[in-house]
Parts: sequence; C-alpha cells; structure tokens
Amino acid sequence: MSNLIIKRPENIFGLFSSLLNINGVGEKKLRLLEKKIGPYIINLLFYLPIKSINRFKNTSLKNINHGEIITCEVEVIEINMQPYKFRNKNNISRIITFGLDEEKSIRLDIIYFGKNTQYLKNIYKVGNKIIISGKFESFNGLGQIVHPDYVLTDNQRGQIPKIEPVYPLFLGVNQKFIYKIINQSIKKIPNIPEWLSDKVVEEYKFSNWQDSITKLHNPENIADAELNSIYRKRLAFDELLANQISMLLIKNKISKINRNLSSKNNSQIIEKFYKSLPFKLTKNQIEVVNEIKKDIHDDKTMVRMLQGDVGSGKTIVALISMLHAISDGSQSVLLVPTEILALQHYNTVKNLLTPINMEVVLLLGESRSIHSKKERMEIINNIAEGNVKVIIGTHALISKKITYKNLSLAVIDEQHRFGVKQRYEITQKSTNVNILVMTATPIPRSLALTAYGDMDISIINEKPIGRQPIKTYVLPQSKINEVLLSMERAIKNGALIYWVCPLIEESENIDLIAVNERFDFLINYFPNIEISLVHGKQNQIEREKAINNFKIGKSKVLVATTVIEVGVDIPDATIMVIECAERFGLSQIHQLRGRVGRSNKESSCILLYKSQLNPIAHSRLKILKETDDGFKISENDLILRGPGEVLGSKQSGNIDFKFIDLHLHSDLIPVARDEAVNLLKNDNDHKKINTLLSIFENNEAIKLLKGG
Ligand code: ADP
Ligand code: MG
Repeated sequence: MSNLIIKRPENIFGLFSSLLNINGVGEKKLRLLEKKIGPYIINLLFYLPIKSINRFKNTSLKNINHGEIITCEVEVIEINMQPYKFRNKNNISRIITFGLDEEKSIRLDIIYFGKNTQYLKNIYKVGNKIIISGKFESFNGLGQIVHPDYVLTDNQRGQIPKIEPVYPLFLGVNQKFIYKIINQSIKKIPNIPEWLSDKVVEEYKFSNWQDSITKLHNPENIADAELNSIYRKRLAFDELLANQISMLLIKNKISKINRNLSSKNNSQIIEKFYKSLPFKLTKNQIEVVNEIKKDIHDDKTMVRMLQGDVGSGKTIVALISMLHAISDGSQSVLLVPTEILALQHYNTVKNLLTPINMEVVLLLGESRSIHSKKERMEIINNIAEGNVKVIIGTHALISKKITYKNLSLAVIDEQHRFGVKQRYEITQKSTNVNILVMTATPIPRSLALTAYGDMDISIINEKPIGRQPIKTYVLPQSKINEVLLSMERAIKNGALIYWVCPLIEESENIDLIAVNERFDFLINYFPNIEISLVHGKQNQIEREKAINNFKIGKSKVLVATTVIEVGVDIPDATIMVIECAERFGLSQIHQLRGRVGRSNKESSCILLYKSQLNPIAHSRLKILKETDDGFKISENDLILRGPGEVLGSKQSGNIDFKFIDLHLHSDLIPVARDEAVNLLKNDNDHKKINTLLSIFENNEAIKLLKGG
C-alpha cells in the first residue's frame, strides 16, 4: 500500500521540494544529503543539533582554559608559512597574533595544516585586526587555535551566532555547511495553520510549529536546543499527535465493517479438543481464552494484544482462539516471524489437531518452501477457496498473491518482529479481520500507546505449574573451560544444551565464521558427543534436521545464531550458553533464555562476556541475573537502550521518532490522544490533519483519512 502516490496539501509543497533548491547543494552534495538526512527540505529541518555552544562565553585570553571555545579580537603580528614539522604533520602555517582585549600582550597562535597558503594570505595580513572564534588549546605553554571556526573582520562580527547549534556530522559535510543549508531551509517554512487546540497551546505555553523548529536551529539560549527544551516538546507533541491520529485511523478502519458472525456452535469440537490436550490450561489461560472468545463473537472487530512472558503458554491460547474464530466456517491464520518458528508451530498444531480431524496448512516463502512448486500452488488455491481453515506461515501469508476466502482472525506471534504496516496489511485480506497480537516482551503502557494506539490487552501472568526459575550466571569468557567442564557433566546426566553466538546484521558472513568456528571447536572438544549447528543461511532441510536431532536428543548441543531467539520450544533443553552476551539487548537475552525452563526440570543460563567489559555493560547483564521478570527487563532496556530495543523496531521499522524522547515526553501521550480524538471528530479539521500527517510522512494514515 505504500507505493501509492500521496498528494500533499499545497501549502507545504515547499517543505517537500528538493535540496537542490538550496544554495551550495549540487548533485554531489545532494546524493550525500539524501543518503544521510533525506531528500527534502523537511528532512533538513528535522535534522536536529545534538547540543549548542555559547561562542561568547569566553572573550578574553586571560583566564581561558584548554579546550574551551573563545571568541576574541586579535591583531596579526607575524605570519609564518615556513613548512615545518608539527604534531607529525608537514605543511603547517603559524600565524602569530596578540589579543586585543584588556591584556593586549597575550599571544595566540593560529595554526593551519595543509598547503593552501594563498587562501591564508588573503585573510591574514600583518597589522590587521580580526575576530577569531574557535577552540582554545594550550600547547607547549603557548595558546593556540587550530583551524578556527570563524575568522572575520570587525564589521562581520554579527555573522557569528551567539549560541551555535552543533550538528552530528558525516564524511563530506562540516558544521558550517549544515548550519548554512538548514538556515536556508528555515526561510522556506510556509505559514501553517495551528492544529493544536488553544487549550493545549496555553497549558504548555507552546510556540507555533514554525517558531519552534526555527528556535531549535537558532537557539537564543543553550537550553533552547536541548532535549527538554520547550520547542522540542512542542514538536514532540506534534509527532505524538500525528502518531495517535494514525493509530486511531487504522483502528477505525479495522473495526468499521461489522461481521455478522453467526456463531454456529462448535463447542463439541472444542470440547473434544480440550479433552485431547496433554495438559490442562491454567486458570489464567482460560480467562484469556474467554476474553478473546467474547471479542470474536461480539459484533465489533477485535484488536487485542496478548502479553505473556516467554514460556507462559501463548501458543495454545492462540490455537483455541483460532478454533473459536473458524466456528462459522471462516479462516484463521497464525503469522510468525521466522521459518523455524512457523515449522515448529505447524508441527505442534498438527499434532494437537489430529485427534479432532482438523486440517492445518503451512505456507512459507516461495524460495524457502519445503513444498514443491505444485504442492505450494495447491495450498495457495486451498486457501483462496476456503478449503483450509487453520493456516500457519511467515510473511508469505500477507504477500499480494495470497487471497483468502474468508479470513476472520489473524494471530500475530512475536509482534515485535512485525511493523504496523504488516499488521495493517493482514487486515486488508478480508472484509473484517480480528487481530490478536502476541508478545513476550511486555511493553510499558506509554510505549504501547504510541506503537499500537489503544489495543485491548490480555495478560498471562502465571507460568504453567511446576516450572522452576532459571538460574542465570554472568561469567567472563576466560571462564569458558569451567563452563565446558560442567557442560560435560550435564550432558552425561542427559541435558540438552543451546549454545548461542551473536549475529550482527552488518557482517553476517563474519558472524557465520564465528558460529562455524565455535561449532568446530565444540566438536573437537566433545569428540564423542553429537553436536548440531543451525543458522539463517542454511537451507530448510539442513536446518530442520539440525533442530530435530536436537529435539529428539540425538545431538546434545545445538550451536545456533539468534535464529532460535523467538518461540523455539524444546522442553527437554535445560542449559543455554550465550556468548558475547554484551552484544545483545536485555530483552533479547530474556527471550533467548526463555528457550530453557520450559519443563519442570531445573534450567540454567550462562551469559559469557568478553573480558574487560565496562562496568555499565556489566551491571546491565547483572539485571538478568537478578530478575526473571520480563517487564522489569524491558523497562531497563527502555532506560538503557531506548524504545527501538523494546519494540524491536530495528527489525520491523515500527517506530522511528524524530522529536519524541519517551523518557521526557511520555506524560504528553494521553494528552495527544485526546487531542487526536477531538481533531478527528471535526471534518473541518481534516485539512489540518492532512498537513500534520504529511509533515511527519504518515502516508499510510493519510490514505485512510481520504478514504474514510
Ligand atoms: P510462549 O508463551 O513462549 O509462546 P509456548 O506457547 O511455546 O510459550 O508454551 C511453552 C510450553 O509450555 C510449551 O511446551 C507448551 O506446550 C507448554 N504449555 C502451555 N500451556 C501449558 C499448561 N497449561 N500446562 C503445561 N504446559 C503448558
Ligand atoms: Mg511463543
């Protein structure tokens, strides 16, 4: 749905014009800026300074300290362009000046590296008085500035900003350039009607949008450009508002068309199913099933999140919900993020449904499918014609080619691996699709609101009976021999062990080497024990064989990358070793750790870290040792690593805020929500909403605004 062309309101065309319209930006710079900042003027305006500096805090050479910024007037005394060696560099020029403040005799050397002496000769002439601004250094007892930021004549003094924003840089641009092009962009900001209510503007003493963005780039005080500045708060509010409006629009769209579920009673089937289950549902699971059942049979469309820590037993709840949903002859899908998980769920569900003679199909991506082309076509046809009711699969389930006869429930497992867009797309597959998203990473309320709007929430907060807490150890890599020794003992006693090596996307090949090396190492170390290897680059057959051998206990150790992070359920595995644990997010480790402790046997998790870990990183890992509470862990991730980690938006592109800092601005969320509700009520406000959504490029939502 994102390839549709969006028509933006005319009054903000300028904000979306090309950066080529800016002086100093040619084709080459354009390519660079497009890559790093974005293609439009608005992207430049949203490129925020990381701090600001007061250039006029120090104006005298008398009491200046090493490393401080100084702006002062000096007189050029001597120009020395003889090349000589200095800090291991040749070709340096030294211009000797004297300060012109109250201590006229203090010497300040201006140093330049490089060969272009002509340029220097043009600006420096003996006897001239100039204004210099730059970082003061004290070097061998002499005061100096290397490559000053500003060199101006007295009447150009005004060109030095009093408070100067400092932008993050990248190769090919410098501060002056960014500052210059952003200030040109500011001049292009049109007049935009206020979308906030008077009440909110007054309550928070907000300036308007234009002024707020201008002040962030042209601060009058150091505080203006800081994270908690009022200008930034205003823009964060706007961003939250746009976010909440989008959530409401998507939710309205989803729950607009009412399905008339003639809940034909299939309680017999479900009763039979309960009887065939190898265990009894916990009280908590039953409560949640009832909540979902009620939603499904009610004439509103469900948008519900099921939270339950790793191992709490969400899959079975999903399956029973699916059975309820298909009671009127419709279809239901279980959407999962990885093939391993899809296959596992498929096998589990197939076993569970066999006693009640219910069919289930698996659909994977074309290239990865375990089915032949012909088989796959047949599955797709059966889905389209409604011959199969229970469907499990990966992203393939939302691909354009797949159609459904009548889809009534989509369960999305491990929601943090999916984006808003995918959740939305699955709802487009039929006229009215109930949504159940499942997550093991509990999301703080504020974050949940920004990521999902107001979903209903069900919580499983007890684990199946008999589970023992997982013992967690945090050890330096140097202790690996002790770990290996205790592994050996454990294997003799029948343990199955996961050994996880980190995988970092940027260099998958290098990471694979690490996994393979560890695999070889362990094979050598345990010559009489079978060990399996699993990673993302294997083909389906190899991978399934590896996991299956481990599952049935033929191999005792499964060396793996994070492909096993989500969902993998092998109750007999009781030990988890994670190497380079410091490279993972806490919630991610919590997920990984959740692969053990899935039966009533005692389990343990060993977190190995590279020696010389800094104290903060070390104490971070220790949080995992101290608590098994996914909620606490995810809050710590939020504090330490930001929302991307908690929502898993790195994979899913869920949330990419420009102004919002959830620590600082979370109290604005409910206010923004109310504001969003009010704005949407009034049709006359739709133009304003369109402008706001366009500015934040919430294109998906704009389409809903127009359509609805
Ligand atoms: P998660 O919530 O992490 O997805 P799963 O649904 O994979 O957890 O369940 C973890 C394990 O617990 C599975 O082996 C499942 O069969 C088992 N399980 C689920 N519910 C119960 C229960 N009520 N009693 C005993 N075992 C259960
Ligand atoms: Mg699961």
